[in-house]
Amino acid sequence: MKKPRALITGGAGFLGSHLCERFLADGYRVVCMDNLITGDLRNVERLFSDPDFQFHHQDVTEFIHVSGELDVVLHFASPASPIDYLELPIQTLKVGSLGTHKALGLAHAKGARFLLASTSECYGDPLIHPQTEDYWGNVNPVGPRGVYDEAKRFAEAMTMGYHRFHGVETRIVRIFNTYGPRMRLNDGRALPAFMSQALRGEDLTVFGDGSQTRSFCYVDDLIEGIWRLLHSDEVMPTNIGNPAEMTILQFAEKVRDLVGKGSKIVFRKLPQDDPRVRQPDIAKARNLFGWEPEVNLDEGLRRTLEYFRSNVEVSNESVRR
Ligand code: UDP
Repeated sequence: MKKPRALITGGAGFLGSHLCERFLADGYRVVCMDNLITGDLRNVERLFSDPDFQFHHQDVTEFIHVSGELDVVLHFASPASPIDYLELPIQTLKVGSLGTHKALGLAHAKGARFLLASTSECYGDPLIHPQTEDYWGNVNPVGPRGVYDEAKRFAEAMTMGYHRFHGVETRIVRIFNTYGPRMRLNDGRALPAFMSQALRGEDLTVFGDGSQTRSFCYVDDLIEGIWRLLHSDEVMPTNIGNPAEMTILQFAEKVRDLVGKGSKIVFRKLPQDDPRVRQPDIAKARNLFGWEPEVNLDEGLRRTLEYFRSNVEVSNESVRR
């Protein structure tokens, strides 16, 4: 029997590369597409020897051509850290809007099922806690994060448009904070920043007073949730994340203690529109396809530390702030 074939945009990024591996392991042929502005070929280099793996160096905001059949299109291309949005605002807007349009057009042409990587950022600085999928959000469209938040909200609307008008089989996952091996060391997000700083024996930079909360999901759990959502019948957005909520100060202390080099914690200015709280309500995923996270924070951080240990030492990249 012929193997099904998946296109993964942003396939050389953090989540994309884990998806490439998962789909290959589960019997798919995989086309990984990336323009490598935030993705990195090192994330997929060991897949090149697999005859079922192809890499297309391409920008998905331009016309995309993939020859042959496609059964699934997973649209994961986008800068994904607040510091990236500041440096790449136009690309962030374009990949969420034009890129989503192109990826949907391709899925439609191929008769493929489409899955959009959406985000908890759709909820903005939320007034409902924890966040359920029926909450419409509290987003500042003209703030520095607006380029990401609004592009993703537009992407959700575009996905529903293709579903309702063209009958494309679509799925939307709202991804909450996720961590694990292959995060970019200097992408500026909390975990890469804290872990790199702690490994170098530098001060950990907590923004604001650190009382804002996040809920961190280990990457393997997220990938399993995405896999199950894709194969479910659910068209409306579905949260995937780990509900274990903590303050950013607690998170920094945990990383510092795990690394054990006695770094100090220092406080820096809180970025504009930084959400005060964030925690997924995952009742929907639990009820629909029996998903819940299995890797607790201590275990996930230990696995992530192994990756950072072997990469931070060889890297000269410093934390961006
Ligand atoms: N943060 C921090 N120090 C850093 C990087 C991030 O205190 O060096 C904070 C940030 O202000 C936010 C939280 O950690 O409150 C999570 O930030 P991240 O950039 O990982 O993603 P976000 O959840 O804001 O999209």
